[in-house]
Amino acid sequence: MAGTILVIAESRQGEFNTASLETVAAGQQLAETTGGKLVCAIPGAGLDDHTAKLAALQMDELLVAENAVLEPYTADGYCAAVKQVIEQASPAYVLFPHTYQVRDFAPKLAAGFKRGLISDCVGMKTGGSAPVFVRQMFQGKTVADVETVGDGPHFVSFQAGSFRADQAAAGTVEAKKVEVTLDASQIRNKPEDPFREAKQAVDLTQADIIVAIGRGIKEKENIEMVEKLAKLLGGDMAASRPICDEGWLPMDRQIGSSGQTVAPKLYLALGISGAIQHVVGMKGARTIVAVNKDENAPIFEIADYGVVGDLFEVVPALIEALEGGEG
Ligand code: FAD
Repeated sequence: MAGTILVIAESRQGEFNTASLETVAAGQQLAETTGGKLVCAIPGAGLDDHTAKLAALQMDELLVAENAVLEPYTADGYCAAVKQVIEQASPAYVLFPHTYQVRDFAPKLAAGFKRGLISDCVGMKTGGSAPVFVRQMFQGKTVADVETVGDGPHFVSFQAGSFRADQAAAGTVEAKKVEVTLDASQIRNKPEDPFREAKQAVDLTQADIIVAIGRGIKEKENIEMVEKLAKLLGGDMAASRPICDEGWLPMDRQIGSSGQTVAPKLYLALGISGAIQHVVGMKGARTIVAVNKDENAPIFEIADYGVVGDLFEVVPALIEALEGGEG
């Protein structure tokens, strides 16, 4: 079925969200396989720089839905604006990057069209009679293939890292302003400061070796043992989000969608389950070694080497070997 694919790009507090480019890559793939037209729209205010980034990509139309009422962001404002864009573009699919902002307004928007939101997808299977959207369930223990039924618009959001921005085909398109009629009286929300992602005082992006811990470490006191291993390997310590949320390691050691994205030569993942939000931050590592006592942990799907075992046995053994004891 050939229908328009509409990608909604994101500007947040004046900053362009680069996950939008990944969603354009997804849109290009979907448009190519369905034979549909690719339209990208960006709502917000003061969008000239952001528009330029999108205009350098291959698409059929680029719509700029500018209105001063959209700054600062509110769910009411975005729902009203994107609704009008959808009514003008009549898309079969509406694709979003799965950002904090999108998860805030997209469910309400979809419900307004009497549709669900297929949220947090990590992939898409095309080539069949209709696209299939892949999303993880039960903390990544299983994946669901989701197909849409009925007429569009169908609403889908993609997790960061599911598509590669650098694989979005380049092109040129002239941005076109679209009229969105908004009145400040429509906005019932009073925005607070948005969620702040981890500050990056420590730059792990340049690290060659990263030793990362997850909830499998159990207690803060146990981190010392892993720090010793990291030192022996000449590596830097990193962690999954729960460890940083607990304050066991500083926030700037967090790897993942709301932390740092790293690409070391070696990533040693100790007691980390491999949730998509973590994996998007480290899957670019050249060699991934995972230690986890659950043989079904999703981290093993991306690991080059996997040890199904207890990190409290494996780490001391590695330390001993590196210190020149018995191997
Ligand atoms: P768990 O999922 O609890 O896994 C612990 C693992 O340790 C299990 O697989 C278990 O089998 C194993 N284990 C237990 N004991 C041992 C042992 N003795 N030896 C070996 N293995 C053992 N997460 C991030 O990491 N980074 C992010 O940037 C991030 N951003 C997020 C953003 C949003 C919006 C949301 C909703 C979530 C985000 N998360 C992020 C959280 C993410 O979804 C997971 O909850 C988190 O990554 C899980 O951390 P974990 O693997 O350490 O813990």
